[in-house]
Amino acid sequence: MPQDKTAVVTGSTSGIGLAIARALAGAGANVVINGFGDKAEIEQIRSSMEAEHGVSVAYDGANMLKPQEIADMIRAAEERFGSVDILVNNAGIQHVSPVDEFPDDKWDEIIAINLSATFHATKAALPGMKRRGWGRIVNTASAHALVASPFKSAYVAAKHGIAGFTKSCALEVAQQKITVNAICPGYVWTPLVERQIPDTMKARGMTEDEVKRDVILAAQPTKEFVTPEQVAALAVFLCSDAAAQITGAMLSMDGGWTAA
Ligand code: NAD
Repeated sequence: MPQDKTAVVTGSTSGIGLAIARALAGAGANVVINGFGDKAEIEQIRSSMEAEHGVSVAYDGANMLKPQEIADMIRAAEERFGSVDILVNNAGIQHVSPVDEFPDDKWDEIIAINLSATFHATKAALPGMKRRGWGRIVNTASAHALVASPFKSAYVAAKHGIAGFTKSCALEVAQQKITVNAICPGYVWTPLVERQIPDTMKARGMTEDEVKRDVILAAQPTKEFVTPEQVAALAVFLCSDAAAQITGAMLSMDGGWTAA
């Protein structure tokens, strides 16, 4: 990866975002981590990343529900590090429920965090990338950006929206050495997946083992979970010069799910 770059990774106090932040720091980028969690744990994550990789790591607690906080986070990163060269739009939440019982507030939150926050952060980061003539935007989409599952209407709608946004944005900046791509993971074992098991058990009338076997891993021909580190390695590759001609792409990492 090119040196002296700064990355902002939304939703990086846990799961996939944390793995991406660690991998970017490992590749030599200064990193702004973001997300919720226990203050002491977040500070431990931040300082250990700095110590391990010899880069600067800052924490910004911007709430992805709030456009002004998102714009302020990008501004603060630019002020502190001089640039935001890499933006990873990763924060996301899930809610599992039939459409006719889907809580309105959950629909609004999922669209705001999983879709609109990507627009707000990208809008704030693009002017600096255009000025400097280099940028990488990596959106954590999902296999659910390409195919659907029942009871996840808001999530599937938001992730399909990310696919459209990624492609449109990539075309706009194609001649400015800025690439915009989406990674589409299948099931990755993170707290987000763990948390949806009880609701899926309820919605489908299944036991925990049945949900894991017949719902989750049923979708993945390899019968294995993707790891956060595998997703992170692809994100780092997308930030390299070798990936300069990959843009507007939806890159699947789903154990064969969407090949079926
Ligand atoms: P996770 O729950 O482990 O992490 C989510 C992160 O987002 C956390 O850091 C959390 O604090 C942060 N976050 C949540 N709401 C926020 C808000 N309002 N403002 C700021 N930060 C907020 O989940 P994960 O599985 O690592 O998911 C990360 C991304 O990957 C999501 O976009 C998710 O849709 C996507 N994804 C996950 C899977 C999977 O199987 N786990 C598969 C495909 C795509």
